[in-house]
Amino acid sequence: MPGVGGLWSDLADLVLPADCAGCGGRQPGGRHGVCPSCVTELESHRPHPVRPTPAPPGLPPCFALGPYAGALRGALLAYKERGRHGLARPLGALLAEVVAVAVPGGRPVVLVPVPDTAAAARARYGDHLGRLARHAAARLAGAGWSVRVERPVRALPRPDSVTLDSAGRAEAAASAFRARPAWRPVPVGRRGAVEPVVVLLDDIITTGSTIAAVNGVLAATGRSPLVAAVLAATVKQHHS
Ligand SMILES: [Zn+2]
Repeated sequence: MPGVGGLWSDLADLVLPADCAGCGGRQPGGRHGVCPSCVTELESHRPHPVRPTPAPPGLPPCFALGPYAGALRGALLAYKERGRHGLARPLGALLAEVVAVAVPGGRPVVLVPVPDTAAAARARYGDHLGRLARHAAARLAGAGWSVRVERPVRALPRPDSVTLDSAGRAEAAASAFRARPAWRPVPVGRRGAVEPVVVLLDDIITTGSTIAAVNGVLAATGRSPLVAAVLAATVKQHHS
């Protein structure tokens, strides 16, 4: 994979349960979190533009690593639902690859993870997206990028979106976030005056309503993300 590189060597440092996080298979040796064939599958993904159909109003350009299927889906579920925090580093590194494609030219970036409600964060073994964002930032910084993680948006309590149809989801998403007043990303970089690109981060894009809603509240403060970077796009997405 081009870009920041060397992703999966990190996995050699992990001591995880013997089941592969990607496919659930039991692997010989059992020391790595992801089996060789799942590593090959994950490394074969190339970040690309995605666009839900229909796209909700206010959705910024979105980039995803790959479809929400196979090893990528397995690794995300193992990380989020089964508490395998050791996957944060390789998944964060993969997210860094998406950012590197979404923001060409090496401009400074401010990474803004989509916030979770506190209840959702607890149910998912902690702030899983914040952790991915920190690892993605570390990976980008190691490759020479000027990068920071900021949390200018908080989530308000909201109903479980699983029970809503897509119009209901969009409505719920629009009222689910508040931005810190007057937030502006501070210029970063050695020269100190380069306007950063704001990159919204999420793990999965489905209808795009969450990303559009967070973009909307940031836009209301006078700043809007230029792009969004996610790991997985549900299979109804198509390349734009
Ligand atoms: Zn596997």
